[in-house]
Amino acid sequence: MSKTIIVTGASRGIGAAIATGAGERGWRVCVNYNSSPDKADEVAAAVEAAGGEAMTFKASMGVEDELVAMYKAVDDNWGSLDGVCNNAGIDHEADFAETTWENYLKVFDVNILGLMASCREAIRRMATSKGGSGGSIVNIGSISARTGGLPGDVIYTATKGAVDSFTLGLAKEVGPDGIRVTCVRPGVIRTDIFSGNEFGLEKVEELARTNSPMQRIGEPSEVAAMALFLLSDEASFCTGMAYDVNGGR
Ligand code: NAP
Repeated sequence: MSKTIIVTGASRGIGAAIATGAGERGWRVCVNYNSSPDKADEVAAAVEAAGGEAMTFKASMGVEDELVAMYKAVDDNWGSLDGVCNNAGIDHEADFAETTWENYLKVFDVNILGLMASCREAIRRMATSKGGSGGSIVNIGSISARTGGLPGDVIYTATKGAVDSFTLGLAKEVGPDGIRVTCVRPGVIRTDIFSGNEFGLEKVEELARTNSPMQRIGEPSEVAAMALFLLSDEASFCTGMAYDVNGGR
């Protein structure tokens, strides 16, 4: 069945793979981005080339007004919503003793406060008690929630722990409204999230090679496959759980 979904942070990395995979299923996808309009346009073109429909929308997931405007734009464009994948996420790498209040706010704003507000907007549209038809919310967490994360990633790790427990609590609250809420916890995946941090992609690849049964880094498409399953009707009895995609690490 065709679906209308929002993928946050879909201009690059895992979000781009989820959006493109949704296009391959013939779904309508709102490709959210913050600072990469050209890349978002490329993803939208890939969605359409694959047989789906796409719109792009610039909204920071750390700014409530902007993300609410995105939901309204989807209402205006397509008139219904079947799912959202809250994928946008940022990291702040630092020795914890050197971190500031601003650092905490920046990462929590995007990784958990924006994700929560996005869930709220989706529920207002999808809940059967509010005239909706139900739907699926997939939150992208991280296995760092249970491993403690890479060195210097404590703030990020705390946000991902919050994603896990928020997902579980919300699933219990909105299950009776026909809404499933799940979390995908990627392990080490080949994306730009590691460029610019001290670890770097090369070291992270080495870590994945030596620390996981699959002995390699994961690809965005491998996380996308799980997210798309959870967004689809095939996952009709899945809710309240976190699903690890981490090569067994
Ligand atoms: P990435 O390659 O760095 O891409 C991040 C995406 O998020 C980009 O599309 C970026 O859009 C968007 N974004 C950043 N700040 C945003 C904001 N304020 N509002 C809206 N969008 C924003 O990251 P990734 O590795 O694909 O990560 C995607 C998700 O997977 C994140 O939640 C991350 O924590 C999680 N994850 C990743 C890994 C991994 O190993 N890669 C492991 C565990 C979990 P713009 O470029 O347009 O700003």
